[in-house]
Amino acid sequence: MANISLENFKSNVPITWCPGCGNYLILNALQKALAELNLPQEQVAMVYGIGCAGNMADFNTGYGFHALHGRGIPVAVGIKLANHDLKVIVAAGDGDLYGEGLGHLLAAARGNHDITVIAHNNGRYSLTTGQASPTSHKGLKAKSTPTGLIETPFNPLLSALSVNATFVARGYSTQMMQLVELFKQAILHPGFALVDVMQLCPSFNKEMNHPWFASRIYDLAAAGHDRTNLSQAMAKAMEPEKIGLGIYYQNPESKPYHAQVPQLDKGNLLSQFTSQIDLKSAIQSMI
Ligand code: SF4
Repeated sequence: MANISLENFKSNVPITWCPGCGNYLILNALQKALAELNLPQEQVAMVYGIGCAGNMADFNTGYGFHALHGRGIPVAVGIKLANHDLKVIVAAGDGDLYGEGLGHLLAAARGNHDITVIAHNNGRYSLTTGQASPTSHKGLKAKSTPTGLIETPFNPLLSALSVNATFVARGYSTQMMQLVELFKQAILHPGFALVDVMQLCPSFNKEMNHPWFASRIYDLAAAGHDRTNLSQAMAKAMEPEKIGLGIYYQNPESKPYHAQVPQLDKGNLLSQFTSQIDLKSAIQSMI
């Protein structure tokens, strides 16, 4: 198979997202990042969640798995453990990853499983028409919370850092070139990587529009942030009224989970077993 390029990774399926949706640029940034990394198509496995973000499954070619809601991360971890030579990437929304899938996210981060998680964070369950999600602000009046949301918002960066995630970054859906770089660095990072992408949703989150973001965002690196300093990263993740973009934290000594499993010293699990299993007849038996 050829290496990934923009031509061979984009599918012919018409994109159905709303006009102005941040998902367009996140998709473009991911496709561009993979093309620039020049990875062989057969060495990349995508796992998609459920929701507007998960519909990306239709718009990419390549190997992929459209998981159940909240269950993309365990699928990705399973793929990685079966063949740790693959680059494994999860793309899902904030409701999927920080709501139903939160336990999986924290467990994968604690284990330092070598997967990249891209969170399309628009602060709503948008495919189901705009209910409050884990990152919605307190007091939000939405269809699911007509008298105002009682819960305080979930902080994904701080939570990931608190369980020793080894790569934590934040992007914004209009900053495509920065997103490309964040995705590339996350994919190349040897260990668990979370890229939380603040995403415009003009249909169901009209409050967090571009002017709202423009008055809050700043570049972490330009502001002198030291990405190897965990306590500084945690402080940045708790900044009120400001949204730092870039890499909050990267552990330069990250050792991924699979590299600590002695049974995988002899090579990936798939290659260890394919010589012993008649895969052809096993597949035939399932057809
Ligand atoms: Fe994008 Fe929001 Fe429309 Fe979904 S509902 S496609 S997130 S703009």
